[in-house]
Amino acid sequence: MDAERIQGAIGVVIMPDFPGLDDDILRMALDKWGPHVQMDMLIEEMAELTQALLHARRKQGQEPNPYLTKEVIEELADVIICCRQLELLIIGNDTTKTHSNMVSIQIDEKVKRLYHRIMPIRERR
Ligand SMILES: [Mg+2]
Repeated sequence: MDAERIQGAIGVVIMPDFPGLDDDILRMALDKWGPHVQMDMLIEEMAELTQALLHARRKQGQEPNPYLTKEVIEELADVIICCRQLELLIIGNDTTKTHSNMVSIQIDEKVKRLYHRIMPIRERR
């Protein structure tokens, strides 16, 4: 990681800006139930999202957008909440945002890699 990239990531919000994603409340839940329970919740919620997506896929061809089901939306919200809690766990009390920046840099690299995979395909059309 070069210094410029680290500096560029400072202050970057990793999770999309959902107004209801209140870090204070999420931190209170982490304090109340502890990191292991919250990680188990993330694993459970990811499994529920998986199941919701599989249900939605079965409806393919029956609805205009088979993935836009109430069940998928609910489980996606659960996963986003739990992912933010995991991010808060990783960040901890790190006021330098070093850990947050490390996640942000990973996201940056992966999205750029995705872009480079997509662009040659789009240019061929
Ligand atoms: Mg759920």
